[in-house]
Amino acid sequence: AVVGLAAVHHHHHHATSRVPLGLKRRGLRVVVTGGAGFVGSHLVDRLLARGDSVIVVDNLFTGRKANVLHHLGNPAFEMIRHDVVEPILLEVDQIYHLACPASPVHYKHNPVKTIKTNVVGTLNMLGLAKRVGARFLLTSTSEVYGDPLQHPQTEAYWGNVNPIGVRSCYDEGKRTAETLAMDYHRGANLEVRIARIFNTYGPRMCIDDGRVVSNFVAQALRKEPLTVYGDGKQTRSFQYVSDLVDGLMKLMEGEHVGPFNLGNPGEFTMLELAKVVQDTIDPNARIEFRPNTADDPHKRKPDITRAKDLLGWEPKVSLHKGLPLMVQDFRDRIFGGADDHTT
Ligand code: NAD
Ligand code: UDP
Ligand code: UDP
Repeated sequence: AVVGLAAVHHHHHHATSRVPLGLKRRGLRVVVTGGAGFVGSHLVDRLLARGDSVIVVDNLFTGRKANVLHHLGNPAFEMIRHDVVEPILLEVDQIYHLACPASPVHYKHNPVKTIKTNVVGTLNMLGLAKRVGARFLLTSTSEVYGDPLQHPQTEAYWGNVNPIGVRSCYDEGKRTAETLAMDYHRGANLEVRIARIFNTYGPRMCIDDGRVVSNFVAQALRKEPLTVYGDGKQTRSFQYVSDLVDGLMKLMEGEHVGPFNLGNPGEFTMLELAKVVQDTIDPNARIEFRPNTADDPHKRKPDITRAKDLLGWEPKVSLHKGLPLMVQDFRDRIFGGADDHTT
């Protein structure tokens, strides 16, 4: 990877706010923290394709160089191996702040590090945005609703989160990150955008990250039993990654701070998800029940009225359409030989 600072000290501040949405414009300088990860790398593809210059800031904790390898050599692309818990100086127009492990297995691995990433890391990126006058987008999460007592969840719901549980490093970390973003918005007039992302799947997910979609798909391909935790009646709503990236870009370019739920309202129990995986990959895949993890939310489904009304966004790819697109990528990576290229 190209490692180094993008120390361009021209001051094209507030370029984003001067350029009306949809008009042709010069490329922006965009930072994507966590850009070597699953969601971030798809976002980077889209930003480069529309002519922006992109700097990825990533410590490669859960991200992989392979996810952005196809951009090395593109002069509009740069990757900096950097931990957002440490300050950094860059000159940019927009910051998409994604850096944070997203799978429960990864974020519980070192919970104090997860909190530092969410709190200190977000603080640093907000400080950077303030210094250069960049617009800042936070990728928060449906986890801020905890084990929700409202269903489906609207953005007005304040959530039901355990502050002292094993998921708290992530849930409360993201809640604090939202608070920080709003305080910089109110106190320093920073342009911020907040997305609350619901479960997302697609190509380039870590194969062994422990999330349910990646687990089931990898298990079915390897002819292992699908591990259903608990009774399998808990629900999630699964969004295909291209829909999410659309929503993130619309949010960044639009006029509204949010928070906005970005998710697919199609709701499935884990047993129903296992059935979709069986239908897609292997009808004979067996199901094995395992004990569930602590504080697992019982149900989750976004109310996306706000994003529909104010961003003109809604997801287009159903689980039945999206899952096969991910399966092909997993097949290639599990059986495809030595290199870890993804499409
Ligand atoms: P991911 O783990 O694939 O990507 C996260 C990236 O951040 C990785 O490349 C990782 O190396 C990097 N990173 C982690 N800690 C860092 C640090 N301290 N400094 C620099 N880089 C660091 O996860 P993802 O699914 O792509 O998630 C991206 C963002 O979206 C995360 O903030 C996550 O909380 C949020 N989100 C994702 C989902 C989902 O279902 N995928 C749902 C809700 C929210
Ligand atoms: N920061 C950064 N890059 C910058 C500007 C700030 O990493 O270009 C960090 C800075 O080190 C600080 C944090 O962002 O830890 C918050 O910065 P801010 O200026 O808002 O607050 P202060 O430095 O006054 O605490
Ligand atoms: N889950 C499961 N089998 C697995 C992994 C997860 O049944 O192999 C369940 C998990 O208990 C939870 C749901 O799937 O109820 C979603 O878990 P995931 O870790 O994907 O995401 P999150 O809990 O963050 O929504």
